[in-house]
Amino acid sequence: MPKLISPISARVQAIIFDLDDTLYDCSGTLVLKSKKIAAKIISQEIKCSEADALKLQLELENRFGPKGDIAREIANLYDLSEEFCKEIANAINTLDVESAILFPDTMAAINQLKKIGYKLFLVTFGNKEMQKKKIKALGLESAFDEIIVTENPQGKEKCFKDILMKYGLESDQVLCVGDKIKDEIAVGNRLGMPTALMKHGRHYHFHKSEISDDSAYIHITKISDLLEDDKD
Ligand SMILES: [Mg+2]
Repeated sequence: MPKLISPISARVQAIIFDLDDTLYDCSGTLVLKSKKIAAKIISQEIKCSEADALKLQLELENRFGPKGDIAREIANLYDLSEEFCKEIANAINTLDVESAILFPDTMAAINQLKKIGYKLFLVTFGNKEMQKKKIKALGLESAFDEIIVTENPQGKEKCFKDILMKYGLESDQVLCVGDKIKDEIAVGNRLGMPTALMKHGRHYHFHKSEISDDSAYIHITKISDLLEDDKD
């Protein structure tokens, strides 16, 4: 008989998932789309092609990181007005998220984890309206025991503590899954939760050099990596 090996500790009873770049490719779809929308405005302002305006944004993101204010950096570089930054922000806010789709294995893996008996939570940071639209477009509205959207950039710690309290869980009984080493993974580790790092997207790639070899997280490239694996 093949031996079934689960990467999840036997203590774990619940899993908290992040949304963007954990359950679907946010960097490669929505973020790229918003940069293409911004490229149209930038190309007109600084008189270059849209392709070059896209390249400029990607170069600046490489330098300042995924949290950098790229429109502001471009405005400073080319001496553009405040109106330019506002125009970009407005254009990005109207981004259509309907085209977002889950990674191919996400839904089946979530259903399997639920079937095993784990309580499942989704905790995501961002504009409430936008995150809710994404959750609906991705068909995740009823996939979790509870969905929490926080608009506070430091809000995940409080959300995690609320979950522990509300469901009577110890921190080592909750696995935290996400792509941000500096955000949900750090918060999970700080609270004493086991963590699984999704190796995907712009945040992961920007910060991956900071991961030490002895880091305690499980490394995954897809949600189904959390399921038992047939090993001979
Ligand atoms: Mg994320």
